[in-house]
Amino acid sequence: MSKRRKGKLIVFSAPSGSGKTTLVRDLMAKIPGLSFSVSAASRKPRKNETNGKDYYFLTVEEFKKKINGQAFVEWEEVYKDHYYGTLVAEVERIRKEGKHVVFDLDVKGGITIKKRFGDDVLAVFVKPPSLEVLEKRLRGRATDSEKNILARIAKAEEELTYARYFDVVVVNDDLEEAKNKVFKVVREFIET
Ligand code: ADP
Ligand code: 5GP
Repeated sequence: MSKRRKGKLIVFSAPSGSGKTTLVRDLMAKIPGLSFSVSAASRKPRKNETNGKDYYFLTVEEFKKKINGQAFVEWEEVYKDHYYGTLVAEVERIRKEGKHVVFDLDVKGGITIKKRFGDDVLAVFVKPPSLEVLEKRLRGRATDSEKNILARIAKAEEELTYARYFDVVVVNDDLEEAKNKVFKVVREFIET
């Protein structure tokens, strides 16, 4: 990409379990010059997660201090006591490096970033083929407690109604097809 241009912002939002992480990892392996915005989160790390790579894991108290200190571009209490937020410093660091920023955000956070940064943003909504499939994927992933799985399913129906506010909707049914669509729309966006 041209050195004179500021990095663009590419947001992925979806109900938990739709396949955002899977699609984002694939995209980042295929397109150089993308950098992932590591969010702060107040939930416990999963077994396969690393602090500073997947999230900056904080306690609820630490998270609230950062809210008061204006450290976030946006934040949401996505599930009860599970706060997630995009750090101002993270976005600035990546854009200064001249890279495009990739976000994995809940639907409200995605819409906030779109409103705030406008045409600099490509907002992608990842849709599961159905709520039944979503539930199967959450259970198949086997990373969350039963309580957390139920909270995620309960929230998914409402989250799906936000799809219309996004620039692109990718239905993640066949994984290869979804990966190809994501690759295509992101490449077009960063090349124009
Ligand atoms: P999210 O980041 O949106 O919460 P994940 O990427 O963790 O979702 O995906 C949830 C689970 O579904 C994972 O176990 C993943 O391997 C699986 N998965 C993702 N996409 C597909 C797909 N198209 N078909 C079948 N399983 C999928
Ligand atoms: P998980 O606990 O499955 O990693 O994430 C739960 C939800 O929080 C997902 O929908 C994820 O996209 C969202 N999320 C992760 N980071 C952020 C963030 O910085 N801001 C917002 N608003 N949502 C986030």
